[in-house]
Amino acid sequence: MQSLMTMRASNLTRRRFLAGGAVGVANVIALVALSACRKRQFTCNSTSGLSPEDVDVRKRLSYTDTSSDPQKTCASCQHYVPAPAGECGGCKLIKGPIHPQGYCKSYVPQI
Ligand code: SF4
Repeated sequence: MQSLMTMRASNLTRRRFLAGGAVGVANVIALVALSACRKRQFTCNSTSGLSPEDVDVRKRLSYTDTSSDPQKTCASCQHYVPAPAGECGGCKLIKGPIHPQGYCKSYVPQI
């Protein structure tokens, strides 16, 4: 039969273990979130300086900074005009800044 002191010590050890596990899970979640943020440190949604017609073209083609399909991104499109890493590129069809991880309805894969 365990003494009261031994049972308390056992409970403390279990609590510390569980608390440590919770902190570990929280740290992993924070690292994953941080990693996701680092991949997308910039946005290319600014339409300042564009004519209303050019803004309308972006909207009609449903340009988005984030492609829902990782296999279909602006960076792999024939119309993409690359920029240095970490900067917005361009597009031969749509005026304004274009994110390499973006997408629009006129996507054409590179051959
Ligand atoms: Fe991106 Fe669309 Fe331009 Fe292709 S056509 S680079 S998918 S904006």
